[in-house]
Amino acid sequence: MEITECKHSVKCDLGACRNRATRSVKFENGIRHTLYMCDKCMNELYAAIGETIVPKSVETAKRKTEKGKTK
Ligand SMILES: [Zn+2]
Repeated sequence: MEITECKHSVKCDLGACRNRATRSVKFENGIRHTLYMCDKCMNELYAAIGETIVPKSVETAKRKTEKGKTK
C-alpha cells in the first residue's frame, strides 16, 4: 500500500464531502486499485482508525496478563 499526492482532478471517494481528492492510496493485491481522498476525510479516517485499532504491544501485554490469571 502506498499513499501519494493526487495530481489528478478527481473527487474524494470517501463520504459525501464533494472535495477534490488530494491523496491517492494505492493497493496492490493482484488487481490494482486506487482510492482517492481529501485531507479532511483522511484525517477523519485516521482518527477513526486510531480509536478502533489497539497498538499490538498493548494487546500482547494484555493477553499475557489474562493468561496468567486463568492459570
Ligand atoms: Zn473527502
